[in-house]
This record gives sequence, C-alpha cells and structure tokens, in this order.
Amino acid sequence: MRRAIFPGSFDPLTLGHSDIIKRGVTLFDELIIAIGINSEKKYMFSLAERKEFVEKEFENEPKIKVMTYKGLTVNFCKEVNADFILRGLRNPGDFEFEKAIAHTNRKLSEIETIFLLTASSTSYISSSIVRDVIQNGGDYSVLVPDSVKVK
Ligand code: ADP
Repeated sequence: MRRAIFPGSFDPLTLGHSDIIKRGVTLFDELIIAIGINSEKKYMFSLAERKEFVEKEFENEPKIKVMTYKGLTVNFCKEVNADFILRGLRNPGDFEFEKAIAHTNRKLSEIETIFLLTASSTSYISSSIVRDVIQNGGDYSVLVPDSVKVK
C-alpha cells in the first residue's frame, strides 16, 4: 500500500493546495492530508475550521483522509505507516526551504519526499495572501475552493 501524507497548515486551504492534492492522489493508494498543530503559531482559522474545509472539499474521494498531528512530520509518518511526504513547489524560495527540510527528514528516517510543481494557474497563490485578502474585505473566493467560507 503506497501511503503518503501532505502536511501543511492549510490556513486556509487554497486552489494551490487543491491542485497538488488532486494530482498527488493519483500517485498513491492513500493520501492523508495532515494538518499540523503548532502551539507557537497564530492561525486565522481554528483547527476545526481548517479540517472541515479539507474534509468537505474531498468528501467524495475515498483515497483522501484528513488527520491532524503535533510534533515531527517524520514521526507522524511512522505512526500512520506512510512512506512518502508530498509537497508542492511554487518558486525557488520554496525549493531552497523544502530542500533543507527533505534532507533533514531523510537523515531522520527513510521517508522520501515527492515534489510536484504547481500548476501555472495557481502558482502565485499562498494562504498568507488569501488571509490578507480576507482581512481587507477582498473577494477571496477566486483563490480558494468552494468549501472555504469565512463566517
Ligand atoms: P506550511 O505551513 O507547511 O507552509 P502550507 O499550508 O502553506 O503549509 O503549505 C503546504 C504545502 O502546500 C507546501 O508543500 C506548499 O509548498 C504547498 N503549497 C502552498 N501553496 C501552494 C500553491 N499555490 N500551489 C502549490 N502548492 C502549494
């Protein structure tokens, strides 16, 4: 069974994440969207909201599961028996950052990180820009899947 996790904050889920998830799931038997809980980080959306956005968006895809986790990503992979970490690459900045993390994870475990390049149509989207648009009353709906709604 080829099981991968797609870790992130998903604060909130964007069309960029969604693109990576839809393309990534075709490579594995199961893809766990792993929402990280970091007590140091301030989130715009609660953990329950972030989880609900992802669950709702992929409710009809049986290969996709949604879980939350604390601590090291490689430890979570071992817990759920996942051999792969899926990540998206948007730009050289992402590459440099992801390279260091992937090398570290390889040092700590046998887990392989699989990178997908973003679709050109969503490569400029980031959760932080979406949060900025929301905070300033802009039309965020063009940047996120339908399941993401601000209450
Ligand atoms: P993190 O807190 O780890 O940065 P994110 O939720 O921002 O979490 O991102 C999770 C993953 O989604 C990362 O691999 C990131 O590169 C990828 N990602 C974020 N935005 C996009 C996008 N627009 N297109 C493709 N991948 C993206």
